[in-house]
Amino acid sequence: MANSSSPPSCGDLTQGVALEEIVEGGVVTGTVRGEPVLLARRGGELFAVAATCTHYGAPLAEGLLVGDTIRCPWHHAAFCLRDGRVTRPPALDNLKHWRVEQNDGHVFVRDLLPAAQPPKLTIAQPPKSIAIVGGGAAGNAAAETLRREGYEGPVTMWIADTSQPYDRPNLSKDYLAGTASPSWLPLRSPEFYSKHRIDVRCGHRVVRLDPRNKDITLSDGRRERYGALLLATGARPRRMSVPGADLPHVAVLRTLSDCDALIAQIGTARRCVVVGAGFIGLEAAAALRARGVAVDVVMRGAHPMERVLGAALGDMLRALHESHGVTFHVAEVTQIESDRVTLTTGSALVADVVLTGIGVDPEVTLAQEAGLDMDRGVLVNEYLQASAPDVYVAGDIARWPDPGTGERIRVEHWVVAERQGVVAARNMLGQRQHFAAVPFFWTQHYDVAINYVGHAEGWDRVDIEGDPGAHACTATYWRNNRRLAVATAGRDLDSLRAELAFEAQTPIVQA
Ligand code: NAP
Repeated sequence: MANSSSPPSCGDLTQGVALEEIVEGGVVTGTVRGEPVLLARRGGELFAVAATCTHYGAPLAEGLLVGDTIRCPWHHAAFCLRDGRVTRPPALDNLKHWRVEQNDGHVFVRDLLPAAQPPKLTIAQPPKSIAIVGGGAAGNAAAETLRREGYEGPVTMWIADTSQPYDRPNLSKDYLAGTASPSWLPLRSPEFYSKHRIDVRCGHRVVRLDPRNKDITLSDGRRERYGALLLATGARPRRMSVPGADLPHVAVLRTLSDCDALIAQIGTARRCVVVGAGFIGLEAAAALRARGVAVDVVMRGAHPMERVLGAALGDMLRALHESHGVTFHVAEVTQIESDRVTLTTGSALVADVVLTGIGVDPEVTLAQEAGLDMDRGVLVNEYLQASAPDVYVAGDIARWPDPGTGERIRVEHWVVAERQGVVAARNMLGQRQHFAAVPFFWTQHYDVAINYVGHAEGWDRVDIEGDPGAHACTATYWRNNRRLAVATAGRDLDSLRAELAFEAQTPIVQA
């Protein structure tokens, strides 16, 4: 198991490290021809892979060794130590890996090894073509996985958004704060998609799905046949219904173009009222403060994010935001005017811009009209298959039987959607893999990140261990003495360990 702080560097690993310096189940770091490399010892074997996660560049030495994989401390991606292959999102790219040699009690990292090649498909008759409806986390992950798994047939991604798949989590964080360049946003380059023969059709809305004829209809009336289909239509932001909610300075934040429009608006704005103290409201509040905009947050309950994180972590976030100058108002909005927002308390808040983050509704119209089985989302089985043949579902719209909770759940988080995209794609290729991943999300506010594993829609007890005031704590959510979820601040390794413990309780072992 790796430590929570990075181990000291062993320098140039081509010059050799004494074997005794690498404890069993541990890692050391160093360089190989100037590149940071991690050397891991596991089960008597030694592995050398790149030292930073290909997602956001986290130091993998601070992560967790699990079998022959290493898990990233920040956002729980995982990589195979043997060949650097990424084994689960949010990372998309493999790690480089090197040959390791032992000689006379010393370990030497030698030459760079070739990247892992896609396997040969084991299925006799793969789908003739695959259509993916949606270009978010799930859709993109599915398209990439189809190629990684060796599928050679046509793959088309139909995307209503005008942008190619992008890093949506960044929109309410660094991109809105102005600290992430626009070049960081696309998940892949256009060249990547053409190299992998993924046909990305942006600005094309699918308006009808006919599972019996196995075709979809586009908004221009065109019909396209498919062999297998992934529905990953995501969600759309709820809009307020109070007078003035349709004024031009009232924004939502879901798409890249929403975010660019908001950034343009705050170019001249001094004050923003944020309605809703959920993920969008609070992450955006932090980003807007980084731009020097004054922020008032209007929320219904006394504790921000209480429904997800509970009162104690909610209060931790409230204090953190207040220390950065955010003002909270417990009230509802009654009216929005061009320069102010009026509250049920009678007070009026001056606002040049109003951002509403009051939740989303899953985009289920296509599924509903196609006659798929529904229940507050689209019902799928453990393989993420919908009630119609060759139709798979992933992301915000999918309600699946979660082995961790023993319940059917629907989750609106990026990493869950990506992992579902991976599993749905594999199952389209006949792998019959259960979706059993422990749900995970992270949320970032200034320099404080909260990592959350598990799923708790309601609880009867929350144990807080550590010091929320110092942003170093663990919250454990219980119902009927069953541990449902764990949220940590400043304790990345504990989050990874909690995830592992949830996996051990899950009857089905993850791939
Ligand atoms: P959200 O996290 O569900 O939060 C919505 C918040 O708005 C809730 O606190 C809700 O309060 C409140 N609310 C609802 N109606 C309101 C009203 N009329 N006035 C004031 N407050 C109101 O949804 P979101 O923040 O809009 O985020 C949208 C989606 O993006 C979610 O699916 C979220 O998971 C996702 N997202 C995730 C991340 C992340 O994982 N880090 C980051 C950004 C966005 P109640 O709880 O009382 O209903």
